[in-house]
Amino acid sequence: MSSRPPRPATLALHAPKRARTIGAPVAPAIISSNSFHSEFGGVGFSGAGMTKDTPAFYARWGGPTVTLLEQRLAALEGAQACVCFGSGMAAIAGLFLTQLKAGDHLVLSDVCYAGVAELARDLAERHAITISAVDTSDAEAVASAFTPRTRLVHVETPANPTWRLADIARLGEVAHRRGAKLSVDSTVATPIATRPLALGADYVVHSLSKYLVGHGDALGGAVAGGDDDIFALRKQALVHHGGVLNAHAAWLILRGLETLAARMPIHESNARRICAFLEGHSRVKRVYWPGSPSHPQHELAKRQMSNFSGMLSFCADDADALADTLSARLRLFTYTVSLGHTKSLLFYVPTEELLASSFVWSAQSNDAYRRWIGAGAFRVSVGLEDVEDLIADLEQALQ
Ligand SMILES: *Cc1c(COP(=O)(O)O)cnc(C)c1O
Repeated sequence: MSSRPPRPATLALHAPKRARTIGAPVAPAIISSNSFHSEFGGVGFSGAGMTKDTPAFYARWGGPTVTLLEQRLAALEGAQACVCFGSGMAAIAGLFLTQLKAGDHLVLSDVCYAGVAELARDLAERHAITISAVDTSDAEAVASAFTPRTRLVHVETPANPTWRLADIARLGEVAHRRGAKLSVDSTVATPIATRPLALGADYVVHSLSKYLVGHGDALGGAVAGGDDDIFALRKQALVHHGGVLNAHAAWLILRGLETLAARMPIHESNARRICAFLEGHSRVKRVYWPGSPSHPQHELAKRQMSNFSGMLSFCADDADALADTLSARLRLFTYTVSLGHTKSLLFYVPTEELLASSFVWSAQSNDAYRRWIGAGAFRVSVGLEDVEDLIADLEQALQ
């Protein structure tokens, strides 16, 4: 066998490399114990005594099933280390709270997961952190938002719910030139499409609740990056904030991950067909999918994504009425939130509601959002069903 490094499909099943012992189980074990044998003179009761090689001790610090998932995710992201959390939001909150202190400045993508926008505003109001919400598809706009106190640039690419992209390599240069760090929420791209750390990001963040668990049956989050950074995050954001992933959820995510590399090409090819169908439909004004030549950043998508994922959004003229019709008529698609499931999902995100509750930024960024997606985004998470059946379902519902 050649010595080339294993590819993602293999890593998702086998990483990290372990000794083979006769009689060892082939499938991972769910170890739900919350404490582990210790000895006097070993690690103390305080998280302060924890080191990178502290053995399993108390499950809030880490446990074997979660550790296996962390090592597997680190391998998939090409990271030195990874730490898991109980949800994607716990991961992002942990990262923000440990990276930023009063007086610090955060540059945030003005299009991002709504919960992240709301969290950032809360940090600004209650913890004296300043934020600039900017169009992170524009590296110049990011550069000019910097202040001497900018510590972190956080972007999502593709960004929920419009699938606008950010150029990770360029933003990494912008951030590093000014001594800040770049974190990339790569939930929608998945490690199958994009490796943000190799492109220059310092942290890659995932909601494991989406494509990685893949079946919509667990919540989880993760941050991967450098060894020292991730250890510091584990100590503060896991041991002290306490938003840990439980062993059962970790096991479900490990199981979901096994088929990630097999699922993503089907999500992508089904999305390509549905995008073409929607682009040709008279009730649809515009479709955004990074894999479509009509996407304004398709060239960047081709450079940065080796799989275009299965998330697309479309807009329509009579959007509220159409949302009502679709939620009532769709039979295969489920009208609901979340994304990245095996099953297809559709949800309508009304623009003015989102701008009033979450993206409460400048008039300029609100106008840019309206220009991109109109009155609302019909967000489609394309699943693994037969694509002709999915198109037939949309066709009958869109009549
Ligand atoms: C879902 C999601 C989150 C939040 O993750 P949870 O697991 O729901 O807490 C963050 N970022 C993106 C891009 C998401 O899609």
